[in-house]
Amino acid sequence: MLKENYSKVLENVNAAAKRAGRNPSDVTLIAVGKMHEPGELQEVYEAGCRDFGENKVQELTGKIVVLPKDIRWHLIGHLQRNKVKYIVGKTSLIHSVDSLRLAEEIEVQTNKLNGGSLVSDILLEVNASGEISKFGIRPEETLQLCREISALRHIRVRGLMTVAPYVDDPEENRSIFRKIKSLSLDIRNANIDNISMDVLSMGMSGDYEVAIEEGATIVRVGTSIFGARDYSSQSSD
Ligand SMILES: *Cc1c(COP(=O)(O)O)cnc(C)c1O
Repeated sequence: MLKENYSKVLENVNAAAKRAGRNPSDVTLIAVGKMHEPGELQEVYEAGCRDFGENKVQELTGKIVVLPKDIRWHLIGHLQRNKVKYIVGKTSLIHSVDSLRLAEEIEVQTNKLNGGSLVSDILLEVNASGEISKFGIRPEETLQLCREISALRHIRVRGLMTVAPYVDDPEENRSIFRKIKSLSLDIRNANIDNISMDVLSMGMSGDYEVAIEEGATIVRVGTSIFGARDYSSQSSD
């Protein structure tokens, strides 16, 4: 069941890339397993998935120790500075950096590992729609934040991430995805040291195909792979 779901979403991802004249291998499907059991993630792993996303640090670290070592883990949810130390060196990409202070903490904790030779790949979370999320920087602040983070030697800003609103018609989010893509091009054109802008993490279960058509290189899909989440037993983190 989960394997079929994953394969179906992967097919849709590849088809959307082709429709947009893009190479399907340029788009990574992240399976978002939050609030689902490791055994369920294992099934999706066996279907071929190697990129998994979690939105909470504790859940992420708990799953890392019990699931296969070749998984690339993505932290996609809000990150508090006091939890950075638990995840640097263990995640392949932190999607949700939204302040200089958080970036500085990632810098400090990354520098402590491997004799200072490690670099953490991050994305900046941009709040493109105004009111739907309390997290993320405003689009007009993003270039300045890139300039500030550029000085941190153990961080590489790979691109931008956004969480679009839940909408019935994914077409409603097309302009948001377009805006983020255009922002990433502006930043790329500024040619800032350590800032590459080759990654755009946008699109979820309801709108990932539209996001790919507008340039997403990573889509984060939970519900369409794992089914609905049960929030009734949620603990705070
Ligand atoms: C939960 C979550 C997703 C996946 O959402 P679905 O609608 O279940 O696909 C993607 N991105 C972030 C940041 C999330 O928290």
